[in-house]
Amino acid sequence: MAKKQFKTESKKLLDMMVNSIYTHKEIFLRELISNASDAIDKLYFRSLTDDSVTLSRDDYEIRITADKDARTLTIEDNGCGMTQNELENNLGTIAKSGSLDFKRSEESGDQIDIIGQFGVGFYSAFMVADNIRVESRAYGADEAYVWESAGADGYTVKPCDKDTAGTVITLHIKPDTDDEPYTPFLETYRLRELVKKYSDYIRYPIRMLTEQRHKKDDSDEYETVHEDETLNSMIPIWRKSPSDVSDEDYANYYKDKFMDYDAPLKVIRQKTEGTADYTALLFIPSHAPYDYYSREYEKGLQLYSSGVLIMEKCKELLPDHYSFVKGLVDSADLSLNISREMLQHDRGLKIIAKAIEKKITSELSKMLRTDREKYEQFFSSFGAALKWGIYSSFGAHKDTLQELILFKSSAEQKYVTLKEYVERMKPDQDKIYYAVGESIGKISLLPQVEAVIGKEFEVLYLTEDIDEFAIQILSAYDGKSFLNVCTENLDLSDDDAKEKVRELNDNAADLLGYMKDALEGAVAKVRFTGALGSHAVALSSEGTLSVGMEQILNKMPGTENEHIKAETVLEINTDHAIKERLFELFAHDKSKLSDYTKILYAQARLVSGLSIDNPSQIADLVFGLMV
Ligand code: ADP
Repeated sequence: MAKKQFKTESKKLLDMMVNSIYTHKEIFLRELISNASDAIDKLYFRSLTDDSVTLSRDDYEIRITADKDARTLTIEDNGCGMTQNELENNLGTIAKSGSLDFKRSEESGDQIDIIGQFGVGFYSAFMVADNIRVESRAYGADEAYVWESAGADGYTVKPCDKDTAGTVITLHIKPDTDDEPYTPFLETYRLRELVKKYSDYIRYPIRMLTEQRHKKDDSDEYETVHEDETLNSMIPIWRKSPSDVSDEDYANYYKDKFMDYDAPLKVIRQKTEGTADYTALLFIPSHAPYDYYSREYEKGLQLYSSGVLIMEKCKELLPDHYSFVKGLVDSADLSLNISREMLQHDRGLKIIAKAIEKKITSELSKMLRTDREKYEQFFSSFGAALKWGIYSSFGAHKDTLQELILFKSSAEQKYVTLKEYVERMKPDQDKIYYAVGESIGKISLLPQVEAVIGKEFEVLYLTEDIDEFAIQILSAYDGKSFLNVCTENLDLSDDDAKEKVRELNDNAADLLGYMKDALEGAVAKVRFTGALGSHAVALSSEGTLSVGMEQILNKMPGTENEHIKAETVLEINTDHAIKERLFELFAHDKSKLSDYTKILYAQARLVSGLSIDNPSQIADLVFGLMV
């Protein structure tokens, strides 16, 4: 029979497994047991709504058999099994979820990385086996099929005999080499140890026929008997006494169940009784999953009813601003076959969700207070979600979230909380100043920022798209309103100076009007200002829509045809020599004043970190002045 070829990506992964030098080859057993357990879960779920499934919960098992003479290790389950098509599709292709990570680490050429990175699943068995047979019969099907492969050169699928539904995976264990013993994977003690280490919490019994030595009655002699031993305690990790679970146990569990290659940043375990009776085991990942900020990402916690999984991703349990939290909730109060629709309206579930949100908030606040470094690590991954939460709820969660958000600031160029900012405000300061830009470097060069810092005020640096939107929803913190320094409302000078500037603007109304017209609608206003330090010009805005927000809104998909525009103001420094020159040109050479105005506007845009629409025209104007 002709061999079928693996898909290219699968073949590469497989090759790596076959030739692996990975030191933790033992994880293959965890992967196969985990697949077996998933397969049983599937059939079990079906049995809840489908009377034709006649197995009861106690009938399910995973069985391990080792034959040292034949060098085979068998893992058998009586779960849902696979059809011929499923054998081809599931085992001929690597799990889609992992392929992206796979590509990434393949580029870095780091083989170890990739194995740890995502459960490499079924293929990991090729690290220890030189031949694999998968006999399977789908539940309810009349025929069974066997998939077989000796590695990257392909596989076969053909009919076989198998009486009952489920899957039997037979590994032919590689011969020992000088550096690598494989025989221990056929030894009872080693298999027992591995199940305990990685698969203890699996909810179905993992059984193995083992030799036990018993003392004979009434004598000192021993006899050897074969006994069916259940290797796992089946107690889910969150039901064990906390003192029996180590950090490493939690980390292993998290990595295995939630497809992460790093240990979680924080483990939160909560057990409550009273209005909401539940146990929660929550994890804050140490970095954002690759799809976290994409539409594909789905939030949610696993939902268990007395230790039995009833839903893989219950989104009702997490508010959007904590969508990064992974984990599970186990409650005795929920019915086993509750449907998704009913669940949405379940009062008990709402109470649990509220309590979980409160718990996460309190854990994050505590981390912020007691472990700043860790909190900042958390924030750099998920801070945008918190800010987004302020914005998208129209402020409904602002009281909580405003205490948890951080911004970089001019003070030390590191993260500050709003509370810290307000606490060190100067006595004569009544606003919280902020500026928006692509990076801290660019923001700190803005003329207005220089001017505000020059007066020894602290400025928050908003570098993320969401920042200013969140700030606008907050509008004030602790009674102090926020002020974008690049808006016309910024005025740091004293009353006398203000009056002078006002007079100047009044007297120059004709000049300024002429300049505005020269810019053909690009700005809403041109005016003199006293707050620019040493710079000739700057750009600011009036109204709620800032120049930064204009940029972001126009970047968003679907806005191509409706260009959103901020009310831009071209500001000219009253203290700069350019002022006299402008008056002079207005009196004697209006056409040159037009050119100057265009150049000044272009410079103001560049200084604000914006691009200009007509670079060659501006360049020509500048050359015209140079020669
Ligand atoms: P993953 O488990 O991450 O999806 P695997 O490579 O481990 O990736 O397995 C691929 C697929 O093969 C599984 O998703 C499942 O559909 C199927 N599969 C593997 N083992 C079994 C099994 N024992 N019983 C039924 N289906 C299985």
